Amino acid sequence: CPTGALTSNSSSIQEIWAAIRDPKKTVVCQIAPAPRAALGEEFGLGSVDVTKKVVTALRKIGFDKVFDTVFTADMTTIEESNEFLSRLVKGENLPLFTSCCPGWVKYAEEFHPELLSNLSSCRSPQQMFGAVLKKKYAKELGIAPQDMFVVSVMPCTAKKYEAKRPEFTTEGAYDVDAVLTTVEAARMIKEAGIIFNTLEESEFDQPMQQATGSGVLFGTTGGVMESVIRYVAGKLLNAEGRVDVEFTRGMEDTKIASINVGDNKLNLAVVNGLSATEALIQKIQSGELDVQAVEVMACPGGCVGGGGQPFQNDNEHRKARASEIYGIDAKLELHKAQDNEDLNKIFEKYWGGCCNHDTHHDLHTHYNPKRRVAGNEIVIKDGNGPEIT
Ligand code: SF4
Repeated sequence: CPTGALTSNSSSIQEIWAAIRDPKKTVVCQIAPAPRAALGEEFGLGSVDVTKKVVTALRKIGFDKVFDTVFTADMTTIEESNEFLSRLVKGENLPLFTSCCPGWVKYAEEFHPELLSNLSSCRSPQQMFGAVLKKKYAKELGIAPQDMFVVSVMPCTAKKYEAKRPEFTTEGAYDVDAVLTTVEAARMIKEAGIIFNTLEESEFDQPMQQATGSGVLFGTTGGVMESVIRYVAGKLLNAEGRVDVEFTRGMEDTKIASINVGDNKLNLAVVNGLSATEALIQKIQSGELDVQAVEVMACPGGCVGGGGQPFQNDNEHRKARASEIYGIDAKLELHKAQDNEDLNKIFEKYWGGCCNHDTHHDLHTHYNPKRRVAGNEIVIKDGNGPEIT
């Protein structure tokens, strides 16, 4: 019984309880990679994988469908990797900067508008799932986009801002209606009176159920780059089975390496924290560093260290959560995005395949130099992720 809604201070939580009580709404939830390794901390379980318990809890709360954002992390990997390969062939807009961190995107829009054509045009996994649900899945179910209420469980408050960008809408409805941070999701579970630690485990909903370890890696610094390398190695070398990458792993704020994928030598960089990002940009722009792709995450350690994660967000906790993320990847059967069969079916059914004009229309975006959204300002704190207020 959601009586706790009456005592909640969070406007997101109140809005979600209202949608769940509204018989006209189909209420759908997606959960990002990073919260699954941290939410258990709110229940005294430590940094362990609680994905399947969270699925059960969200269903008990009243969500009609529960999906895994890892599914659209795989989607992002496929669209972004092909964008990267295309830019390499044409020799344009390099280095490619990743774009799934809204803290970084807003920083680039405000302070480096000259780099916006270098950002990947891919929507983030959160916004790709929003697009899939509102533009395609709702219609398949015969539901108007306005009558589907999409909620995300995310590691940061920057995702709340991202969901309100005006371009992320379908027929006037936001693709993602409300965002819960990891801590807020735990609070909502408590408000519902659910005894989390004794919950049974359950699976995500079909037909977008399958997930690869590659997509899970989006939850930690280096994970997007490793996913792209796995995809590119699989595609160019027909590499089967595991492709593990060493240099992307670890909590250092800047990691740079040259790797060979067949005859192709790729110079790559992974950076986390906006101070380190700024230093890296200066090196690239001065000609001191020549790279073809850069993964940027605004928070220390990437999303495991997001501002919406449980309060003890120090380096030890970030390392423990990242270690769990790599453990989930190791246990999963599939490790490269292109091996996700549910995803390949969805690409085929909704767009006639991946990486074409129609996926570009629905799953990509654009950026605005000097973007100002009324009431939204970026606040950058050293040692913490950015806050967007
Ligand atoms: Fe959010 Fe931080 Fe992850 Fe960026 S790195 S998406 S700001 S949690």
